[in-house]
Amino acid sequence: MAGLIRFFSEATNVHGQPDALTVGTFGPADLDPDSESYGHITATPKAGWAQTDLLGPLRKALGGIPAVFETDVNAALFGEASSGAAKGLKHTAYFTVGTGIGGGLMIGGDLVHGSGHPEMGHMRVSRHPDDKFEGACSFHKDCLEGMACGPALEKRWGKSAEELPADHPAWEIEAHYLAQACLNVLMIAPPERIIFGGGVMHQEQLFPLIRKKLSELSNGYLPLPELDGFVVSPELGDDAGLLGCVALGRQLLRDQERIGQTKGS
Ligand code: ZN
Repeated sequence: MAGLIRFFSEATNVHGQPDALTVGTFGPADLDPDSESYGHITATPKAGWAQTDLLGPLRKALGGIPAVFETDVNAALFGEASSGAAKGLKHTAYFTVGTGIGGGLMIGGDLVHGSGHPEMGHMRVSRHPDDKFEGACSFHKDCLEGMACGPALEKRWGKSAEELPADHPAWEIEAHYLAQACLNVLMIAPPERIIFGGGVMHQEQLFPLIRKKLSELSNGYLPLPELDGFVVSPELGDDAGLLGCVALGRQLLRDQERIGQTKGS
């Protein structure tokens, strides 16, 4: 935190005071502006971070400027929706598959929070019939993240995602789990597009496998969109979160301006 505050102090000296601050954070985090612990990381197992006020000290260091507090996955989703793979769409889901699995959801142009925020990485999934791996999630063992995150691949096969060849049976099993994530989201709030990012998704052979599995799982129940354009990779790469934070800050300022105008009139 001290390093972040120092960074902002030095950057402000060079570039001037920013108009807004957006924090796209790991979770679980309190995103409810009416809550006493708004802006805090909550019950994380990450050492030293539980119940830490993340937003407050940063905002204070920047003179109390308008601020947005959002999950890192939702921020990346907002970036893709603003200027990437979901530009112009109103309903989009985003999964990042790496050291863990995170999920974000945008419905009607708004990021979905619920009473907390989505934890779609921990949704329940059915086991692949050939998969005997116990699961890597420290809370649930064989949830989506437990079966399909990068460390789950490595524990199951003894090799990291990058080391497994493209024709390895690992990918059919991986697609089995990721396609279930797509189907579950489709059944809750059908998006127009589902974006899969993160280190594991650099394995591009996964995309056609996920589409095929999704079609099999759906089994004709829902009229699926054209799948090539439905399950896609991100366009903004590692910049999605940063660009999403910029777009969220701009949206906040626009909203505040509009409210100010309404009050003025
Ligand atoms: Zn879990």
